[in-house]
Amino acid sequence: MSPATSTPVVSLREVSKIYGAGDVAVAALRSVDLTVGPGEYVAIMGASGSGKSTMMNIIGCLDEPTSGTYELQGHDVSGLDGDTLSLVRSRLIGFIFQSFHLIPRMTAAANVELPLLYGGVGRDERLERVREVLDLVGLSDRASHRPNELSGGQQQRVAVARALTMNPPLLLADEPTGNLDSTASADIMGMFDALHDEGRTIVLITHEDSVAEHAHRVVRVSDGQIVSDALRSPASGRYPHAQGSESVRA
Ligand code: ADP
Ligand code: MG
Repeated sequence: MSPATSTPVVSLREVSKIYGAGDVAVAALRSVDLTVGPGEYVAIMGASGSGKSTMMNIIGCLDEPTSGTYELQGHDVSGLDGDTLSLVRSRLIGFIFQSFHLIPRMTAAANVELPLLYGGVGRDERLERVREVLDLVGLSDRASHRPNELSGGQQQRVAVARALTMNPPLLLADEPTGNLDSTASADIMGMFDALHDEGRTIVLITHEDSVAEHAHRVVRVSDGQIVSDALRSPASGRYPHAQGSESVRA
C-alpha cells in the first residue's frame, strides 16, 4: 500500500525509560507516545527532572528505551548495536547542545568539517560544504577562528553549521540558548525560525517560554509523561516567521 501520509521523522511508541533497578529504580519516561512529522518545529518543555533530557537522549539515539519502540525516519532503531546507532546518528540527526560541544583546539571550519570527515566525504566536497554552511550561519569571516576566539553566540552558530553539514532530516537541540545572553539567544532563535521556514524538522528542548514561543507545537512533559501537546496558533503570540517577509510575497 502506498502511504497516505509521509513517514514521520520521529515516532515513539509506549517508550519507557527506567534508570537503576529495585529500590533505587527511577522511571524517567513512562509510556510516551510522540510523533513528529517532516517540517514540524516542536518544543519539548518541562520542569527540571521531568524527563526532557532522557527523551532527547532517546530521540537522539544516545540512549535506548527500557521498553517501547522508536522509529527514526521509518527505521526501527530500538534494537541496533552501538556502531550502527552512531552511524544512524551521524546521518540522520544534527545535534545542537547548550554548551556548544565544539572541539577547542580546532578552528570553526575544522569543527564543521568533522561530520563530513566521519561520513567519508571527499576533500573537495568537504571544503565546499564547510564554506556553504559557514556562509549560511554568517560566519564565513570567522572560519579560521578557534572557539575561544568567538563569542558564545558565534560558537553556537558554528554548532548550528556543524549540525547542518550532513543535511540531516532532524535537528535536535537541547537548551540551545541556555548559555547565551538575550541578544545572542534571539539571534540563534531567528536562525531556527529560518531553518523551519526552509522546511527543516526541529525538535528543541527548553524550559523557557520565550524559546518555546518560536515553535509551532509545544509538548509538555511532567514526571516522565506527556501532559499536553498543542499547536500554537500564529495569532496567539510571537510567531515571527508567519509574518516574515518570505511569506508575504504573492
Ligand atoms: P530533565 O532533563 O527534564 O531535567 P532528566 O531526563 O534528566 O530530566 O531526568 C528525569 C529523571 O530521571 C530525574 O528524576 C532524574 O533524576 C533521573 N535520571 C536522569 N538520568 C539518570 C541516570 N543516569 N541515573 C539515574 N537517574 C537518572
Ligand atoms: Mg535536562
